Amino acid sequence: MDEVFTMVIPVFLPHAGCTVRCIYCHQGYITGIGEKGVQERIDRALRGRAEPCEVGLFGGNMFGVEPADLERLFSCFAPYRGIIQGFRLSTKPVPLRDETIDILKRNGVRFIELGIPTFNDVILAALNRAHTAGDLFQAFDRLQGEGFRLALQFMVGLPGETMGDIEETAENMVRLRPEYIRIYPLVILRNTPLYRLYETGEFAPIAFDEALERAALIYRGAREEGIDVVNVGLTDNEMVRGMVAGGFYHPAFGSLVQSRIFRDALGSAIGQLKGSGEARVILHRNDIPLLVGYRRENLKYFASLGIDLSWDPSGAERGSFDVIRGRERARGKMIDRKE
Ligand code: SF4
Repeated sequence: MDEVFTMVIPVFLPHAGCTVRCIYCHQGYITGIGEKGVQERIDRALRGRAEPCEVGLFGGNMFGVEPADLERLFSCFAPYRGIIQGFRLSTKPVPLRDETIDILKRNGVRFIELGIPTFNDVILAALNRAHTAGDLFQAFDRLQGEGFRLALQFMVGLPGETMGDIEETAENMVRLRPEYIRIYPLVILRNTPLYRLYETGEFAPIAFDEALERAALIYRGAREEGIDVVNVGLTDNEMVRGMVAGGFYHPAFGSLVQSRIFRDALGSAIGQLKGSGEARVILHRNDIPLLVGYRRENLKYFASLGIDLSWDPSGAERGSFDVIRGRERARGKMIDRKE
């Protein structure tokens, strides 16, 4: 198995190293844990484990942790070094300190996930990220040169964001070629500055469907280039649902994005066939949920276009399909672009 997908044991360190707070963030809510001691948190995650694993340090800005504190943090893992094969962490691209890089290398950090919600500096400033797109490029080059393996974390549905910003994100992703990406839709949590903007009407989110389209554009761009997408959307255990006031939280956001991509690709393949009315799709059986869509949305969508879909789960390859109408047949791949 590729080591990108090694078993990762997450250790959440809410707001560790965050000297300023991004306007949408409240890690107490996102991680669902309180202010317990770090050692206790580490013990809880690793005690009794025998199998080798990687540890993920998530929930804060690890580059912002003072070097002495970072050393202390890694020393808390001493009892478990026998099973820890390496670390990965998420961070903003700043501050990029030589000392920090040295500590991370000495302690076996292999993957660094850099958060860059958008490459638009005006939006980054409005989000109070306290870094620019230029900082990201600089950090990416330096860290790659130091031998770290890199991932990027993007967001969709940000205040002031346009489709042009999403296209820029996709272009920069292709240029940088991270090993994998994560895509997070913006979620409005209570007791955040973003929530206040939302309450006063200064920020009105785009339509849910539009957020899906934006996530789909980045997702498709990544897959076309062979870049892994390890998750789309916040998972349920990262979220206290009661704290969500708006935005694009959906327990199946990732599946919604994938089935939107499937729908677009299928629509494109059907467009190559003559005639009208019913069409039969031959696909891998595990792709049937993507064809059908959440609450049968894709079937309803095609029905609204006068296309009655049926399917045959004898396809051999996930993400590929054939569509047949009468004597006509077209082949498609999930990542094919919409015409
Ligand atoms: S850097 Fe991450 S953890 Fe820190 S405030 Fe911003 S989003 Fe939250």
